[in-house]
Amino acid sequence: MRERELVRRVRKLAPAKRGDGQKLHRPLLLLWAVGRAAEGQPRQQPWAAIRDALMPLLTEYADATDGPLSALYPFWALQKNELWEVEGSDALVLTSGGRRPSLATLNEANPLAGLPEADYALLAQDTELAARIAGSLLMRFFPDDMAAVTHAAGLSRLLAGGIDLALRPLVGEEYPDRTSIAQVYGGNGVGGITPIEDGILSVFSDDKGPYNDSRIPGMDWIAYTGDGLNGDQQLVGGNKSMSSYQAEQRALRYWHKPHGGVFTFESWVVVVQCRKRWGVGENGERRQEFVWVLAPVHSPLRETWPKEVQDALAAGDLTIHEDLDLEGELTIDVVGSPDARTPMDEYRRLTEAARRTEATRITRSKLTTVERFLRSAAARNAVILRSRGLCENLDCLGHPLERTDKGAPLLEVDHVNDISKGGGDSPETMVALCPNCHALKTRGSGRKELRRQLLKRARALHQAFSEGIEL
Ligand SMILES: [Zn+2]
Repeated sequence: MRERELVRRVRKLAPAKRGDGQKLHRPLLLLWAVGRAAEGQPRQQPWAAIRDALMPLLTEYADATDGPLSALYPFWALQKNELWEVEGSDALVLTSGGRRPSLATLNEANPLAGLPEADYALLAQDTELAARIAGSLLMRFFPDDMAAVTHAAGLSRLLAGGIDLALRPLVGEEYPDRTSIAQVYGGNGVGGITPIEDGILSVFSDDKGPYNDSRIPGMDWIAYTGDGLNGDQQLVGGNKSMSSYQAEQRALRYWHKPHGGVFTFESWVVVVQCRKRWGVGENGERRQEFVWVLAPVHSPLRETWPKEVQDALAAGDLTIHEDLDLEGELTIDVVGSPDARTPMDEYRRLTEAARRTEATRITRSKLTTVERFLRSAAARNAVILRSRGLCENLDCLGHPLERTDKGAPLLEVDHVNDISKGGGDSPETMVALCPNCHALKTRGSGRKELRRQLLKRARALHQAFSEGIEL
C-alpha cells in the first residue's frame, strides 16, 4: 500500500545528531509541507516563498542562527529522503564540495519545490493519513514543543481532534497476536520493547499465566520487566530506548495481552522510574532484570498528564533503584531436603531487608506505593523460604506438592490481617497459603478463628526460624 510506504519513508527521516541534539530542520520543512497539502494549498512554491515561511520556524524550534542559509539545508537535503522535489535541481551549480547550491545560486534560480506528486496527492485526499504523519513527526522530534509547533507549522486544523486521535493505532484497538499487529502497523513483531513503523516506541506485555499481571495492586501504574530473556539484563536495545524515553519524558504505547486474551493497545504511558531486581530468565536461571515503572496517560501531550505523573517526573529521578538486596540465593527446596545454605540465615537477612524498607518509607506518594509493592519482595520471599514450599495452615487439606510451570510452589503470601488496617511487611504477621486456604482465610465462614490460628502459627514459625530452630 502506498500509504504504508509513505509512513515508512517518513519513519526513515532520522537526521544525524550533531552537537547538542538532533538537527530539526528537515522535520520542520516536512511538517510545514504536510500541513499545506492537507489544507489543499498548491504542491509547489518558489524557493523564496518557502525560505521566508520556513526561517521563523527554524529560528524558533531548530535553534537556527544562520538566517536564509538555515532554510537552504533542509530545502536541499530533504530530496535525499525522497520526500521533496526541487524542479530543475540537476541544472543548479553545486558548491560545498558538490553537496548543495550556494544561497546566491538558489536566490537567482528561485526554483519551484514541494512534496513529490504522488505523496502530495495522497496527503491532500487523505487527511487522516496527513494527521497521522504530522502527529508522528511531532512526537518524534518535538516532544517539548508539540502544541507550539502544531500551531506554528499551520497544523492546528489538521490536528484539532487531538494528537492521540491523529496517530494509529487508536487506544483500545485489539489484535489476536503480534504478527497481526506487525501486518497492520509494521515493527518487528517479536521484541518486548520496540517501535512500530511510525517510529514511536511500544511495549508489549504478555501475561503468560493467570497471576502474571504487572499492574501494581491498588493503582493503575505498571511494573514492566525489561528486555532480555536470559542472563543479566543490560541497558542496551529496548532497555536503552526506555531509558531515553524516560529522560526525554516522552509518551510510548503500552500493549497488554491478558492470559488467554488478545493484544490491546491499552494506553499511552510514561516511564516514571527504573528499578533493578532479581528475576528468573526463560532458562530458569536467576538473573538481574530491569523494572520500568509506567504511568498511564490519556494523551501524549504533556500538558494533559495528571499531577501525580508530573510530580514523579519533576523529581527528575533517572537513577536506577536497586532492589537487589531483597533476595539472595533463594531456592525453594523440595520438602525433606534441607537447604545446605541454611535457610534460617537467609530468612534473617530477608527479614532485615524488609524492615529496612519499612524504615525508609517516609513520604506518601504514588512512587512510595510502587516502592512498597516492589520491595515487599523481601518479606514475601522470607515467608516462602520459611514455608519450605508448603502451605503454612496446619489444617491444610490442599495439594502440597503441586508446582507451577516454573517449578515454584503454588503458594500465595498474605498478611494475616488486612494490610490497609496498618502494619507493614513483617514476616511474623504474614503467611504462605495454598489457594484453597487463602480463600478460606478471606471468604470462609470460619475465617475469624482461622486468622487467629494463622497469626499464632506465623509468630511461632518466625521465632523458630529467627533462632535457627527447626519446627
Ligand atoms: Zn493450604
